[in-house]
Amino acid sequence: MSADCLFCKIAAKQIPAKLVYEDADVFAFADINPKAPTHVLICPRKHFASLSEAAAEDQAVLGKMALVAAQLARERKLEDGYRTVVNTGPHAGQTVFHLHMHLLGGRDFDWPPG
Ligand code: AMP
Ligand code: ZN
Repeated sequence: MSADCLFCKIAAKQIPAKLVYEDADVFAFADINPKAPTHVLICPRKHFASLSEAAAEDQAVLGKMALVAAQLARERKLEDGYRTVVNTGPHAGQTVFHLHMHLLGGRDFDWPPG
C-alpha cells in the first residue's frame, strides 16, 4: 500500500466506494464521476503508479484485470460494445496514480477517442 494513494485507501476500505468485485489480486468499484451508464475501475491490489511501472512478474495480475473487465461486462450484458481504457501519464489524462482499467459501457463510443 502506498500511504497517500486514494485507490490503496479504497482497497483497504479506509475510503468508501461502491465495490463491485474483489479477490486477492484485484478490486473493482464504480467510478465516482461516471462517463457512461457503466463506468467501473478495475485495479490491482499491488500499488503501481501507472502501467509504465509494471514488469514481467506482473503479467498475471494485468491479465486478470482484463478478464475481470470482461466478466463484469458479461454480467451487465454489454457484449455488443464496451470499452476498456488505461490512461497512462498526465498527457493521456491520468489523474489518479494507481494503475486502473476503466470499463465503460451502455452507450456508443467514438473512435478515435479524444
Ligand atoms: P484517470 O483519469 O484515468 O486517472 O481516472 C481516474 C478516475 O478515478 C476518474 O474517472 C475519476 O472520476 C475516478 N475517481 C476519482 N476519485 C474517486 C473515488 N473516490 N471513487 C471512485 N472513483 C474516483
Ligand atoms: Zn495505490
